[in-house]
Amino acid sequence: MSKSPDTQRMEKIVSLCKRRGFIFQSSEIYGGLNGLWDYGPLGVELKRNLKNYWWRTMVHERDDIVGMDGSILMNRLVWKASGHEDTFSDPMVDCRSCKARLRADQITNKKGEKQCPTCGGKDLTEPRAFNLMFKTYVGATEDESSITYLRPETAQAIFVQFKNVLDVARKKLPFGIAQIGKAFRNEINPRNFTFRSREFEQMELEYFCRPEQGMELLEYWKEERLKFYENIGISRESLHVLTVPDEERAFYSKGTYDIEYEFPFGRQELEGVAYRTDYDLTQHQKASGKSLEYFDEETKQKFIPHVVEPSAGVDRTVLALICEAYTEDEAPDEKGKMETRTVLRLHPRMAPIKCAVFPLLKNKEELVAKGNEIVDLLRPHMFVFYDEGGAIGRRYRRQDEIGTPFGVTVDFETLGEKDGNLRDTITLRERDSMKQERVKIAELPALLISRIL
Ligand code: ATP
Repeated sequence: MSKSPDTQRMEKIVSLCKRRGFIFQSSEIYGGLNGLWDYGPLGVELKRNLKNYWWRTMVHERDDIVGMDGSILMNRLVWKASGHEDTFSDPMVDCRSCKARLRADQITNKKGEKQCPTCGGKDLTEPRAFNLMFKTYVGATEDESSITYLRPETAQAIFVQFKNVLDVARKKLPFGIAQIGKAFRNEINPRNFTFRSREFEQMELEYFCRPEQGMELLEYWKEERLKFYENIGISRESLHVLTVPDEERAFYSKGTYDIEYEFPFGRQELEGVAYRTDYDLTQHQKASGKSLEYFDEETKQKFIPHVVEPSAGVDRTVLALICEAYTEDEAPDEKGKMETRTVLRLHPRMAPIKCAVFPLLKNKEELVAKGNEIVDLLRPHMFVFYDEGGAIGRRYRRQDEIGTPFGVTVDFETLGEKDGNLRDTITLRERDSMKQERVKIAELPALLISRIL
């Protein structure tokens, strides 16, 4: 059976990610471990750029949000109170024929009969709840009293520290607490590359408010989050907002939107924006016996704030960025013949390497020296890459493929050999249009900074 264009596209993306050092399979030399991934030299830069931009726009550029960084392991009572210990599960079904372990919603239904999607077998077990939290033991004894879990979301650390943060941050409602960190879920069927992993990172905001502000702030945050994705280079056309229907929403939520992205393997969730009412704080107040109330100076009232939560996945957004950016177009090779060019059209803000510096020839000392001088000039401001190997066209292609938005070529004109007026100017090439402009070296840092910020 021939593969669909989207399957082929996804395969090309996965292959590029490995070949160029964005994403590797975890523990690969030992055969890997399902649902776990490592980020290579370029992947880690992309991921950091994403997290830094989220932090910048959520925390640094606002007066009403502060950050925190909670621990991954917490007291087990947190997970009892939040409901995760009892209910954070997916219904699981086993196929007795091929032994596949499946999520109940992945079972295919052919003419009213349930079938295993792997082997087509019909001998399936009844669905049973499978808790997605990884259990572990804290301390030297492995018994009931030492059990806890790797956190399945970062949010609970924010709720249980609500009072401490409120006391030190001196914020008035509405205000938020933001956090980026690892979360772990023992997914029954990890799949679609990094999309469904067992270890991943979340960028979560808990935005606390008065009860009457909840619905309005849900709309506000949905719009803010859509703007965020556009500002990192994901077009509005590739995004979709799903209004989660009443019957699929958590019972305590008064409204939830899923922001979805058109991945090559289908439309899937990138982020959930949920109005969670006062459920979490109320649960923790009840279970801990500690007040998590807010005192309103003006009305002299005490109450438990409500919360709106935009919860985004770092890994899913990195994957969406790569999928959105992956392009093949036509460009002339060294001899002017058209060839296929692979380009990652990443937003300059997200690109791992911002600028590559190429001396035209590596055996011409003055060109190499000038190239190194430019690297030193740019390095305090951005991540730059120096490359003197191979034909210039090839060097451009290597950078196009990893999304470097700018290339600087140091040529004989830079040395002022042909025209004195061009001394200390370089050729600046833009990745997508391949347009070139002549720029003074002294003006280069400011020009690039304005384009990558
Ligand atoms: P899904 O329905 O896809 O399992 P979810 O609704 O359970 O996701 P949430 O609990 O709302 O997800 O988590 C918030 C965000 O965390 C998700 O929108 C997603 O970006 C990210 N996320 C959740 N589970 C995973 C996972 N297994 N791998 C990667 N990212 C994940």
